[in-house]
Formats: sequence, structure tokens, C-alpha cells
Amino acid sequence: MKGRKLLMIPGPIEFEPAVMQATAMATTSHVAPDFIETFGHSLEMMRDVWLSPSGQPFIIAGTGTLAMDMAGSNLIEPGDRALVISTGYFGDRYADLLKRYGAEVTVLKAATGDVVDIKEVEKELNSKSYKLLTFTHVDTSTAVRVDPRPLGLLGQKYGVLTILDGVCSVAGEEIRQDEWMLDVVFTASQKAVGVPPGLALMVVSERAVNAWRSRKTPVGNYYCDWNNWLPVMKAYEERRPSYFGTPAVNLVNGLEVSLGIILKEGMEARFGRHRRIGRSFRTAMRDLGLKMIPISEEISAGTLSAPYYPDGVRGAEFMRAIAASDVILAGGLLQGIKDSYFRVGHMGSVTEGDILTTVSAIEHCLQKCGHNIVRGIGLRGAAGELQ
Ligand SMILES: *Cc1c(COP(=O)(O)O)cnc(C)c1O
Repeated sequence: MKGRKLLMIPGPIEFEPAVMQATAMATTSHVAPDFIETFGHSLEMMRDVWLSPSGQPFIIAGTGTLAMDMAGSNLIEPGDRALVISTGYFGDRYADLLKRYGAEVTVLKAATGDVVDIKEVEKELNSKSYKLLTFTHVDTSTAVRVDPRPLGLLGQKYGVLTILDGVCSVAGEEIRQDEWMLDVVFTASQKAVGVPPGLALMVVSERAVNAWRSRKTPVGNYYCDWNNWLPVMKAYEERRPSYFGTPAVNLVNGLEVSLGIILKEGMEARFGRHRRIGRSFRTAMRDLGLKMIPISEEISAGTLSAPYYPDGVRGAEFMRAIAASDVILAGGLLQGIKDSYFRVGHMGSVTEGDILTTVSAIEHCLQKCGHNIVRGIGLRGAAGELQ
């Protein structure tokens, strides 16, 4: 017995053994020459993963929420208008966060499982002068995927800075930060980037850095202020020692290895693999008679899925059965429908074998909970899409 279960939640995920080994190395000084090299190299590789040759990368100790906080606090001054597109839990969190920094926030909220019509976004941008537009690429509470391209274009057209919350998408879903003209794209280490929790990662455009430079008021968050971090990032890239707050040395060691693995696979191959795995998993769920929260394939994520329980299956009973199985899945997260669905993460180093194992466990547990299905039908659906 391995003594461990397959972790199939939307972060933390299964990590590569080489990444775990790198994080377990003896901790060195944060200004040791080999660590400076590791940090600098990781910053350089982030540009290749984000497809943002012109962007400014940041590696900061913290979680994805800190990345949200850093982007928000540096770009918002009291009285600035921000438009938040919410496709679930994390969009709502961003609206709350921006208000703390004095933003006048308007939220365009999608119906559950749907996206906000781009025409509605343009109408709103046209009606007032906004400083900031934020949206969640893949909302982890709904598995709905928003297309960033038209939003990047609108940001350019109306002179509005765009922030993409990519915590559940960077290094999984297709993102081309420079080409799509996105100003800030951030994530956290424990999702598709494939490093244990504890790093906030972001790449920032020159336009956003300039907007921050021309602030009239100091940044309302001491830890997040780019005045403190920008010189540190520049120093590491120039392979010079520097300090503001102690970096998470061991996690950065893991990050260098993981970014190397991601780039070795290649971004196009990685985007394609996530698309294929997402499609395969959803096919299996549909064949098992489960409806998904996203209302169409077109807006369904490749990094996670959110199926509703079928009629007759009680969520609590299903989650108890799953807890006794070899896989770990997540329950619902969205207020109001929390108990009517569950979530499965399939991002990062996830394999086809992991998908088949997960589908098989779900099939077995649904049957135990009284759902009447032909044994093996989900597996057949998943396998068919993987070939
Ligand atoms: C996980 C997640 C977050 C929050 O990240 P933490 O590391 O838990 O703070 C924010 N946005 C999205 C889309 C996420 O998936």
C-alpha cells in the first residue's frame, strides 16, 4: 500500500517527485549565489510560461489571495472605479478586496454556470470612466471559463487596466498575456504551476507598472507595495543580492524545477493536454448522467470540472463514500448551491491514468449511493476521448 490517495481537487494538486525533492533540499541563504541563480532563472521562465516576453514577473511568499491583494492595492487609489466580472466565488472576493482600498466597485455577475455577455461589459465601460477591469479566467467554484481575448481588447480600447485572476488557469488554460494585451496575470503555486502552497506569482505589463508609478497616494498595503518588491525582482534577475522580506527559499527551489518541467512539455502541448483531459472527464460525467455547472462545452474549463449530483444521490452520502475511496475530491463552494455539486481538479501533472482512476471511483460511489448506471459506462466515455 502506498499509504496515500490521489489528490484530485482544484489545488493543491499532485506534485512531481522532482519538485518535492527540490523543496526538500537543505535551506540556503536567500542571498547565496546558487539561490540568486534559481530565483533569477525562475523569473525568466515565468515570462515564457505566461507568454509575456515584455512583462515584469514577481515571486512573493503568500497565496493566490495575496496575488489578488498585490494587484489590487498597487493599482487602486481611493475613488478609482473598478469593474469586476464575477463568474463565481472568487469574482465576489475581488469585489470585496478592491473596496478595502477605496475603489468604487461595479460588479457584473453572471448567472450560475454562464459568463457575462461581452456587449454588457462594453456598455458598462462606455458609461463611466473605469481604471480597472478584473475577471476570473476559470472560477474554481463553477468551472466556468471566461475568454480573456475580447476583454483584453476592451481594456485597450477604453484605456482600462485588465487583471486576469489566473489562479486556476495559468500553466493549464491557454493564456498569451502579451498578445492578448492583459495587464496583470497572477496565480498561486499550488494550482497548475505544480508547487506546494505558499507562492504568489504574477506578471505585470509595462502599462500597469506605469499606472502604479503615477499614483498620487501611497499604496495602502505595506507588504504588497511594489516599491518594496520591484527592486528585489530586478536584482534577482540581474543576479545581485537584495532583500525586502525573506523569500520562501525551498518553494522557489521547487518552482524552478516545476517551471522547467512545464516548458519542457511546451505551452501548446500543455494547453492541448488540459483541453483533452477536461473533455474526457466531462464526457464520462455526462455518460454517467451528471449535468455540469457550465452551461456549454465552450465555456467549460480544462483545469477542473463541477458536476451536479444526479437526482436521487445525496451529496453528503456521496462525499462520505468518496472519502473512503482512493481519491480525494472537493465539495461544492458556491453559496446557495454548495450542497448540490462536487468539484474535481484535473490540472498540472495530471495523467490519463489519474482521470480513469477518478472516473472509476466516482462511478463506484454513485452506484453505492443508489444511482442506477451500467458499470463501466463512464470509463468507456472517458477513454474514448483520450485516444
Ligand atoms: C484558489 C483560487 C484563489 C485563491 O487562492 P489561495 O491560494 O487559496 O489564496 C483565487 N482565485 C482563483 C480563481 C482560485 O482558483
